[in-house]
Amino acid sequence: MDHFGLVDGELHAEQVPLAAIAREVGTPVYVYSRATLSRHAQVFREALSALPRVHIAFAVKSNPNLAVLRLLANEGYGADVVSEGEMNRALAAGMKAQDIVFSGVGKTRAELAAALRAGIGQFNLESEEEGVELSAIAQSLDARATCTLRVNPDVDARTHAKISTGKAENKFGVAYDRAAGIYARLAGLPGLEMRGLAVHIGSQISDLEPSRQAFVRMGALMEELRAGGHTVSHMDLGGGLGVPYKAGDALPTPADYGRMVAEVARDWDVTLMFEPGRVITGNSGVLVTEVVRVKQGTGNPWVVVDAAMNDLARPAMYDAWHDFAAVKPTGEAMTANIVGPICESSDTFAMAREIDAVKAGELAVFRTAGAYGATMANTYNSRALVPEVMVDGEKWAIVANRIEPAAILAAEQVPDWLR
Ligand SMILES: *Cc1c(COP(=O)(O)O)cnc(C)c1O
Repeated sequence: MDHFGLVDGELHAEQVPLAAIAREVGTPVYVYSRATLSRHAQVFREALSALPRVHIAFAVKSNPNLAVLRLLANEGYGADVVSEGEMNRALAAGMKAQDIVFSGVGKTRAELAAALRAGIGQFNLESEEEGVELSAIAQSLDARATCTLRVNPDVDARTHAKISTGKAENKFGVAYDRAAGIYARLAGLPGLEMRGLAVHIGSQISDLEPSRQAFVRMGALMEELRAGGHTVSHMDLGGGLGVPYKAGDALPTPADYGRMVAEVARDWDVTLMFEPGRVITGNSGVLVTEVVRVKQGTGNPWVVVDAAMNDLARPAMYDAWHDFAAVKPTGEAMTANIVGPICESSDTFAMAREIDAVKAGELAVFRTAGAYGATMANTYNSRALVPEVMVDGEKWAIVANRIEPAAILAAEQVPDWLR
């Protein structure tokens, strides 16, 4: 559920009319609901309340906005980060270094060193090579790195190929069959404290069975390691739970997920770690856009909006669906193709979609845009970097400024030898 709904025939975020935000900030603009974010954070935590020891690390990559991170820090969440930049955001938002987990196949030496200096809580190692490097860096800094080994369980998450991460052909983690040997070698290296295993099989997961299979495999590996005399006190089960993008989509709820985990991990005697992203932020945001014009086509009309694939990349990248709705629906409908202004045919949000009837100059939203939305934005076609707003009841604030093309142009220069 979310807090975007019609009040007196006009779409609001909590108690704020989206039209008021659009008037002051301009469009396109992302709008987040504080109430929805808090609710999702609480629902996810409650879904895990039957488990004895739990650490939740919000996947920063899904929405790294500083205000979003602060809100989640206030909810007691830590962070799962995949770069030094994300780590610094989590720290700037007030998250404790101890509550930060560092994931990713390509952590550089500089990033490993920075994370060690910051004292982050856990490195999820994605290769033996990375562990060997981290050991050397830790020794040189006279530090100790607390680690898990990320394992690729070779299960099919049954999600979009570009967001599947747990099949053997994906780049993530170490092969399941080699994991025990690698764990044993890394556990023997100075400067490293191996304390567990990590797994993350993909995103927008809509069927819990592949996750269950992956967790069962991880449990077996945990037993094997313990039988070999190794410590396994932490199991990081990653993120990936999907959210409804279409009205009427039925997805497993956090409670369903929590029950499945409780059943699989009942006798594990570990601290269970989770890295939810989309399930917290997805339905907490909309992208508000203005219709530039409605262009006659040979088939359906083209609704050309002022948001584009640079602002919301998911449809172009993953063929993703975002519900589209008028801010002041008239009750009339139309069948249209919804496109942005960018000079790429992939700048298409929907084809032959039945939508609220809209005209030039009217406002509309793409729903469920709070995850992998603003964070993937860029300035292609010399467009502005899209701003972000957070609403709280009747209050609202800009939480990320629009960065104008002029500011980006000002960061470029022509070398002397071209003058
Ligand atoms: C992307 C990612 C997540 C979060 O995925 P969601 O689908 O947004 O929950 C968690 N952990 C890792 C390692 C990731 O790469």
